[in-house]
Amino acid sequence: MSMIEFKNVDKYYGNFHALKNINLKVEKGEVVVLIGPSGSGKSTLIRTINGLEDISNGQLIVNNYDLSDKKTDMNKIRKDVGMVFQHFNLYENKTVLENIMLAPRIVLHKDEAENKKYALELLEMVGLSSKAESYPRMLSGGQKQRVAIARSLAMQPKCILFDEPTSALDPEMIDDVLDVMKTVAERGITMVVVTHEMGFAREVGNRIVFLADGEILEDDDTETFFKNP
Ligand code: ADP
Ligand code: ADP
Repeated sequence: MSMIEFKNVDKYYGNFHALKNINLKVEKGEVVVLIGPSGSGKSTLIRTINGLEDISNGQLIVNNYDLSDKKTDMNKIRKDVGMVFQHFNLYENKTVLENIMLAPRIVLHKDEAENKKYALELLEMVGLSSKAESYPRMLSGGQKQRVAIARSLAMQPKCILFDEPTSALDPEMIDDVLDVMKTVAERGITMVVVTHEMGFAREVGNRIVFLADGEILEDDDTETFFKNP
């Protein structure tokens, strides 16, 4: 089974046709990079994968759950599918460590000591061990985004969606975040990444999907994509 499968999916906002007959498969462990002009539907597309946007027509299967079926429990999908946003969306009144420990505690009922141990491991992985007791406002954008990635990993997801994770960052912070994303890919976690970072796409992506006006115009393996004129 694929991790994600879109079959003839349409999405309308009122009369506006935002996604047009999307057919797309993402296999387990694959890194798919989604590119395209602003307003082409990239954000809409990845937001349908964890149910932040519902679809209007067609079928969408994520981790064996059918999102087109109204009876499907979205909480089950969100447990396995993490999301990293452009603007981090950290809890501002909680420390970095608490940000990471919150969802595993509440959703997975994880043992407190085990939760903390894993959170500290993840902080080390993203290079922020010294910031465990800091609040988000004390961090740079790049540091916040690395915390957001650690927070997402704490749920031990099968898949993480990234919506322009480096677009809000100062240029000198982008590489640290991309390095952490590369580590996530190396862990075998399925990733769908909306980004303009073509170096990352080329190095880490397995496939490039090009969206324009709500339609997929290209879906190539990375090598083929970068060979095209
Ligand atoms: P991208 O991520 O490629 O910039 P989006 O998915 O954000 O594109 O948006 C695709 C199109 O859908 C845009 O024209 C945008 O204005 C429109 N759109 C996005 N969200 C909504 C919404 N909640 N209501 C109405 N139109 C929307
Ligand atoms: P981004 O491209 O980073 O997602 P946008 O400015 O396109 O940011 O969208 C920000 C929010 O506004 C999203 O929640 C989106 O769904 C909503 N939105 C975008 N375009 C429209 C629109 N034309 N009408 C209503 N809501 C919209």
